[in-house]
Amino acid sequence: MAYDLLIKNGRIVDGSGMPSYRGDVAVSRGKIAELGRLSGAAKRVIDADGKVIAPGFIDNHCHYDAQVTWDPLCTFSCYHGATSVIIGNCSLAVAPVRTHDHEKLISMLSQVEAIPMDVLQAGVPWNWESFPQYMDVLDRKLGVNVGALMGHTALRLYAMGEASQERAATEGELELMRGVVRESVEAGALGLSLSRNMSHFDVQGKLIPASFAPEPELFALAETLGELGTGVIQSGGGTTPELKDRLMSRLSAASGRRVIYNTIAENARAPMRWKQHLDFVEESCREGNRAVPLCSPNSVVGRFTMKNCQTFRQLPTWFEIMNSPAEDKIRAYGDLELRKKLREEVMAPLGPDSRWAKRWDLLLVEEPALPRNQGLKNKSIAEIAAAQRRDPLDVFLDLVVEEELNTLFALGQNNTDREAMTQFLTSPYTVVGLSDGGAHVQFHCQVGYSTRMLGYWVRERGIMPLEHAVRRLTFDSATAFGIYDRGLLQPGMAADLVVFDPDTVQPRKQEMVHDLPNNGWRVRALADGVHYTVINGEVLIEDGKHTGATPGRVLRNARYHALRAAA
Ligand SMILES: [Zn+2]
Repeated sequence: MAYDLLIKNGRIVDGSGMPSYRGDVAVSRGKIAELGRLSGAAKRVIDADGKVIAPGFIDNHCHYDAQVTWDPLCTFSCYHGATSVIIGNCSLAVAPVRTHDHEKLISMLSQVEAIPMDVLQAGVPWNWESFPQYMDVLDRKLGVNVGALMGHTALRLYAMGEASQERAATEGELELMRGVVRESVEAGALGLSLSRNMSHFDVQGKLIPASFAPEPELFALAETLGELGTGVIQSGGGTTPELKDRLMSRLSAASGRRVIYNTIAENARAPMRWKQHLDFVEESCREGNRAVPLCSPNSVVGRFTMKNCQTFRQLPTWFEIMNSPAEDKIRAYGDLELRKKLREEVMAPLGPDSRWAKRWDLLLVEEPALPRNQGLKNKSIAEIAAAQRRDPLDVFLDLVVEEELNTLFALGQNNTDREAMTQFLTSPYTVVGLSDGGAHVQFHCQVGYSTRMLGYWVRERGIMPLEHAVRRLTFDSATAFGIYDRGLLQPGMAADLVVFDPDTVQPRKQEMVHDLPNNGWRVRALADGVHYTVINGEVLIEDGKHTGATPGRVLRNARYHALRAAA
């Protein structure tokens, strides 16, 4: 028997976390046929010498619901080795929907996830009403595999119309919602997504339907999944209600289903919060609950010059200077008398809304403006101050004055702490992901979370072995979302694979591209070191280029497959 595909001489990292080994991976009929030293003939052979062969990554938190209808590849996740994406998160979805609600539904997606409205209006074909119909439309043509969650905002709007943002559901409306959940999950939806994010508003400034919904409704819907015995629950904005009164854990306990919520993150302005959160989750899991937060390997880095800087705007003397013309700014920052006041404010105790964490080690000189200062590039203000035995504020402001406000600084106050990142990226009580693929398209492109995990946190910072990192991106994520036939290299599993170079893998710099409907633009980040993305046994991306194949399919839950197999 000839294999369809044979990937030879690679370092096999199988997704289980077990030690990697040198060998080949054979694929037949879209599934993994065998692993190890293999000699059979194959229709296509790929030499993976020096590269890793791993299960394809599961990009578990995406908002491609609209984009997938014009872009079956769900760019740009697949360029970073993702073979499956999960959409319908945070209660937002584009089905079920009634014809007269088309505009309203996408306006909420546009508003909350920052996707330009004209792009959505031009791009979405609306050839569905129900959720099963939507999944069937997607299944006709997909590059990557797509798992879909039922979004509570879409569901509530479908059942209640305008009232979905005004009042509790009637018995009849609730029954209708439960019926739609049942029908969608029976058709294969991976679960249900909720939102407790109380800053998600529509264009009129009203809370989106899911955030508006009272708690008993969440339990009624979660218990519908419990009755069916399948599906996961995802929740946007879950951290606050979980820490307040264990809402996420209670939903999990009531339904018997796993709850995955946003977000555990490190924030230099509240340095112990992540630790308290992680301890809290551990305790809840030990009691037998399954409510875990998502976390991202991406850091949030703000770039600014002192021509216009948000970080110090809350400080009154700084604020006044910020609002003056450039030459006055330079004079003020150079004024040593005034500097006493600036110092007082910048070193004052942190308030609950402080934007500045008083961490000079996190403030980097990203681009010095003058040739003579190039040696300072990528050094932190704390580092420079220590080397020059000077005060950090003096180093900072003297540089600002010397370079006439043209120095580009980078301040990373979120997800930059090595200890915090080590703990929650490696914890069995968190799920790694959160790319937000398809959202905030004109602000940033975070789908490189996987290549950042491998390139930065594993190769450069060494926070965990490669095998562990691959497991986090594959098996752990697949398991969390109930995808039972992917995320591991084992005979019989779907042949979703990525071949990457562990020495070079990393996200590339972000750039602007005009490739959205209605000539819209967005931010793109591609990857270095990802050589093949293989989906259901077919090569989708080869050295950064789409092969033209569309091997993806809709991922349906275990219950759907079991019922089909029994029929
Ligand atoms: Zn989201």
